[in-house]
Amino acid sequence: VAPARTVPRTARVRRADGGDLRLSANVGSVADARAAVAAGAAGVGLVRTELAFTGRSALPGEDEQVEWLSAVLAACPDGPVVVRTVDLGGDKPVPGLRLDQVRHGFLGERGLRLCLARPALFRTHLRAVLRAAVSRPIELMFPFVTEPAELAAARSALASAAESLRADATPFAEPAGVGIMVEIPTAALRPEPFLPDVDFVSVGSNDLVQYLTAADRTVPEVAGVYRSGERLVPGLVAGLVAAAGPAGVPVAVCGDLAGDPECAALLRTAGVAELSMAAPLLAGVRAALAD
Ligand code: PEP
Ligand code: MG
Repeated sequence: VAPARTVPRTARVRRADGGDLRLSANVGSVADARAAVAAGAAGVGLVRTELAFTGRSALPGEDEQVEWLSAVLAACPDGPVVVRTVDLGGDKPVPGLRLDQVRHGFLGERGLRLCLARPALFRTHLRAVLRAAVSRPIELMFPFVTEPAELAAARSALASAAESLRADATPFAEPAGVGIMVEIPTAALRPEPFLPDVDFVSVGSNDLVQYLTAADRTVPEVAGVYRSGERLVPGLVAGLVAAAGPAGVPVAVCGDLAGDPECAALLRTAGVAELSMAAPLLAGVRAALAD
């Protein structure tokens, strides 16, 4: 039985300043998208497209990526859907790509850096995302952006992918908005240069805390050091909102801290427009924010 598509009124919570705070879900599969609907998510703040690349023996081709993403989009709740371009490397090895643990590790060529270094892979992926977007409107988000030149290069790759689809007479849809993940301290501490070229930003607290504390997020022995950095996030997000607000750029949070009830309350006070989390965490955050 298909889950109901209605969004409970409680999916949205009034912010202290009167704005709407959207409580959305992070999704990496059709099952996740259905769970988001069942949990009453007001949208999807993060589609993890790299999950189309894992669990298989070779890289997916353009048609396979279109099929994967279209199925996920069809199952998503009503409301805005943010698709993140493929975020490979770091802790995400991929069958079909020989990624070196250092060169493509947490401090290396990962995320958007890897896509920009492999233009053919990026073009195939962007074409697939634009084609899948025919089925429903999406917003597009680039991960792991360190400096504005990378955003400019990614936007140019996007325009070129769209142009190639136009030339092929292949149906596609432009994203309704383009944004970046803020998950590297450079972008969190100095967001201003990015703001004229984005429609939104979304904070990836998992990586942001990792790079603030220099504590690998996958190593249990440094988990305590890692956690000590989490308390910095609401303040950094408040700074981001102060910079982005006047530029008309909404700030979301889609890292794990968005699903932590205590932190969610601080992030609401900081003025975020959206908190996006694993669907099972929505009920706890909703309850905490209703108090
Ligand atoms: C993050 O870094 O907070 C994030 C949402 O991205 P990922 O966990 O996929 O690196
Ligand atoms: Mg990340």
